[in-house]
Amino acid sequence: MTTRPLDGRHRTIVRLGHPALRQRSEPVPVERFGTRFLRDLERDLVRTMFEDSGVGLAAPQIAVNVRVLAYFVPGEGDHDEVPPRVLVNPTLTLVGEATEMGWEGCLSVPGLRGLVARHPAVKVAAYDADGRPLVFEASGFHARVIQHEVDHLDGIIFLDRMNGMSSLMFEEEWDHYAADRDLPVEV
Ligand SMILES: [Zn+2]
Repeated sequence: MTTRPLDGRHRTIVRLGHPALRQRSEPVPVERFGTRFLRDLERDLVRTMFEDSGVGLAAPQIAVNVRVLAYFVPGEGDHDEVPPRVLVNPTLTLVGEATEMGWEGCLSVPGLRGLVARHPAVKVAAYDADGRPLVFEASGFHARVIQHEVDHLDGIIFLDRMNGMSSLMFEEEWDHYAADRDLPVEV
């Protein structure tokens, strides 16, 4: 996925059934900002996300139940690139009432894709690993990735967000029958 060398270490991504995926994760306390714990977690999340070909990865997916997530948006299709970013203690404000459907997959639910309704825009407030505030608005694919990842911090899987299971597909069938409809999100 990336040509630049990555530090940190690769961590095992846990799959559906691991209890870490179904817990509400704890906020990172202020005294842990800037510590080795958070810097290592940041690097490990980004490295594992790239090596497992995802566009997002939340700490509970490596069995660490703190409110930290990593993501990036590849500069493909109709969305602008967002370089790898780590959010600590993110909070979301959903913009507007309307939602839009899009395909999602999950590194913790390998091999499946399904249609999920998400808000097309969100306001995000979070911190970086050193405790600097990050405030921005995300839309489209970017907003979808963040909503999927923040759900992980609350023990919610994209399957829970589907309006029924009728769109659930294996990746191979998705490639064959649905891939022209939208870009997948594997997070
Ligand atoms: Zn996921």
